[in-house]
Amino acid sequence: MRVKCILCDQIDELPDESLLAKRLRNRPIHTYMCKQCNERITEKTKARLATGKFKLYRSRTNEDHW
Ligand SMILES: [Zn+2]
Repeated sequence: MRVKCILCDQIDELPDESLLAKRLRNRPIHTYMCKQCNERITEKTKARLATGKFKLYRSRTNEDHW
């Protein structure tokens, strides 16, 4: 089946029997992200998580201090 990336409009061809293709067919709204966009988002999420952890760690340390 042909799928279109929601972020960059790239058209990819997925094997019909692949897990991803099945998952996309079962959903009323098809949200497909190509490999490049997927990796980009994953990197961003990782970076955000890392920043969040860092802030959380610092605020906890401050609370302990006061
Ligand atoms: Zn894309």
